[in-house]
Amino acid sequence: MKYLSTRGSDSDKLLTFEEAVLRGLAPNGGLYIPECIPKLPDNWQEKWADLSFPELSFELLSLFIPSTAELGGIPPEDLRKLIEKSYSTFRSPDVTPLKKVSEYEYCLELWHGPTFAFKDVALQLLGNLFEYFLERRNQEDGKKHAHHITVVGATSGDTGSAAIAGLRSKENIEIFILHPKGRVSPIQEAQMTTILDKNVHNLAVDGTFDDCQDIVKALFNDVQFNAQHHLAAINSINWARIVSQIVYYFAAFFALRKQQPSLDLSKVQYVVPTGNFGDILAGYYAKRLGLPMRRLAVATNENDILQRFWASGRYEKEDAGEVHETLSPAMDIMVSSNFERLLWYLAHDSSDAPTEQEKVREAGVQVVQWMETLRSEGSMQVDQAQLELARRDFVAERVSNSETRAAILRYYRKDQDHASYLIDPHTAVAFEAANRLSKDAKYPQVILATAHPAKFSEAVVSSIASESDEKSAQEFFNREVLPKEMDGLLEKERRVEFVDPADSGATKLEKLVNRTKDIIDQNSFP
Ligand SMILES: *Cc1c(COP(=O)(O)O)cnc(C)c1O
Repeated sequence: MKYLSTRGSDSDKLLTFEEAVLRGLAPNGGLYIPECIPKLPDNWQEKWADLSFPELSFELLSLFIPSTAELGGIPPEDLRKLIEKSYSTFRSPDVTPLKKVSEYEYCLELWHGPTFAFKDVALQLLGNLFEYFLERRNQEDGKKHAHHITVVGATSGDTGSAAIAGLRSKENIEIFILHPKGRVSPIQEAQMTTILDKNVHNLAVDGTFDDCQDIVKALFNDVQFNAQHHLAAINSINWARIVSQIVYYFAAFFALRKQQPSLDLSKVQYVVPTGNFGDILAGYYAKRLGLPMRRLAVATNENDILQRFWASGRYEKEDAGEVHETLSPAMDIMVSSNFERLLWYLAHDSSDAPTEQEKVREAGVQVVQWMETLRSEGSMQVDQAQLELARRDFVAERVSNSETRAAILRYYRKDQDHASYLIDPHTAVAFEAANRLSKDAKYPQVILATAHPAKFSEAVVSSIASESDEKSAQEFFNREVLPKEMDGLLEKERRVEFVDPADSGATKLEKLVNRTKDIIDQNSFP
């Protein structure tokens, strides 16, 4: 199995799994995808029925990762160990347990990892993969630290804490996470800055999240700085993140079959709170691999570029060019980076070229064209056949802030259909979408829960406060909801460096960039 760029790769220059993971983004700006969709073993539904999550992960990942180092893969015994280690940090033995909420609603809880958000599922493994590949390269060269990376990322909360939890104390990796000072939730700020491992560096930037992103972009575009420090990104475009997330769709399938043997699993819809389209794209790969399901449902907040795409076939940035700040900040995006991977498949599958090789080439050319139009005109359009393909596999719904609050309250109240179940605002977006989609005819749905409610306590408490009052809602929350791991978190020792404008530089951004560079220079590999 090799990997190609969504914007085209010469067929003799495909990458190995190792290269795709270490590079993240292709030099032509594209995202890496596998050269083909592998085949599941014939009797996988029986063979895999009783596997644990790590065992299931091993089976699925093995389809995408060759079993020898020479092919840029990982020998099976090493892969098993990496996977075991990655999921031993989860608090649930099932890793991603499936909870029945009502007759037709099942919640796949993805937040049992170290930072209580679904990103842990991918980033715990990614950290171990980075460490494994770097160590292997250093051993081959017989030089310590010859191969190392400096991970730099901007965060408004979730990605940063999960990345830090995944990379803390890893050999040959330094990690620098920039967050806008005073603008991330107190819990998320504490989750990041109380990690005191030597290779972890939190930078609190005197500016907004966009400033943080601009600084990171400036560093990556600085050829000399980049070459000196071997900058690496951990954002959701990394193929390793997608492939590791395929596993929980299969885990949900088997859990559902055990809980509800009479259910027709080909009728089940998976509803996913969506921002950068990584989580749901993993579901799309699961479907292409052959996992029985009805369709995948994209649930967006008021940043609804994806919902508008499924309505019209047009992928269009909003005029104002600003993200809406919503109650589900991890889904506040202008465009969805992983959507490019779906576009590639729409182009590929709608091509009438005679050979597979031609289809692949055409798809690459088409994606380049679309991305260029999106950049220059702010929008791009697929044709009717391609839109039909997208609608065959997906539906999409947009959920407003007030609907999000109403959904949190509705599930918190017990009623004849369900017991009291507290959900975070991201998960609430998906529950609301699921309700709307099956309003007229009921069918089973698996709703993916992407964060523990305690991570977004302000929005949750204020949404349920109308039940009694803010004070008793907060007391209930502290007593019943707050996990013991978060006890005393806010008072723990912290380490954080402040990025204020430096002395040199013409603009504020330049000054911030220069100050960030100083910090990285001082804390990097010799
Ligand atoms: C990142 C995140 C999402 C969005 O996932 P994508 O893969 O970017 O679509 C949803 N909810 C939470 C809590 C997240 O952290």
